[in-house]
Amino acid sequence: MGKLKLDDIETRTPQPIVQDTVLPKIPDGFFPIDALPSKMKLYPEGTRIFSRPLKILEVKQLSMINSDNFNEVINAVLEKTVKGIDIGDLIIADKLFIIFWQRANTYKGDSFAIEHKCNLCGEESKYNFDVSQLSLIDINDKFSVDQDFALKESSDILTFTQLTVKNEINTSEYLKKDPTADEDLLAIASVINTINGQPHPIKYKYTWLTNLGVADVLYLTQYFQSVEINLNPMLSVACSKCGGLAETPISFRPEFFLPEYRTE
Ligand SMILES: [Zn+2]
Repeated sequence: MGKLKLDDIETRTPQPIVQDTVLPKIPDGFFPIDALPSKMKLYPEGTRIFSRPLKILEVKQLSMINSDNFNEVINAVLEKTVKGIDIGDLIIADKLFIIFWQRANTYKGDSFAIEHKCNLCGEESKYNFDVSQLSLIDINDKFSVDQDFALKESSDILTFTQLTVKNEINTSEYLKKDPTADEDLLAIASVINTINGQPHPIKYKYTWLTNLGVADVLYLTQYFQSVEINLNPMLSVACSKCGGLAETPISFRPEFFLPEYRTE
């Protein structure tokens, strides 16, 4: 290598400073999940969420699911199978998506095909469950946690968040203490982030809502529904006989998590 001359140094263009983009390392056995309904817009910048196929004890745990223990069982399994985020901060639509992702990646191939009866021609067939068949309503681009929402009758200004695992737990704990509480209003109370700039506990927000004018309650309910991130657990299944696309509701039944192994 020749000696550098002053001319060479002076004509060199300065190198741009390259920011080290430190991507979180993928934990062993885990995979990044990049197609979440929230598109990661509500998580801290740079958040990446990882998960892995289920192990047998987790599958058995999920197969004990019923309407009473639903959230507890799912949250307990997610604690072990999701990395990159505190489970409490997961948006509910993302949580459901991850469960479907786990189901699809735990059971691959025809041995775990799900039976399907075409509601157009009656043909019975089977399909392999895949997350790409799920209907998703992705985050509405007009939603922002900082956006003010002004009520019409009262002069109050609200901001909203999306329903998270933590909100859901707060709501169910509230319902245990007060079983007569209205569940729809509680759900709305749990996603109100601030009232006139102030955060409040769920009890305050619920009581505040129950005393608000009816028109305002309906107005804000309608608003929140229009910006809510939803995951619609419907599958589009194509019939092999008539070719028709049937929308099949998919539910978390024990057999969904612990299907029979079929050899044929
Ligand atoms: Zn058919």
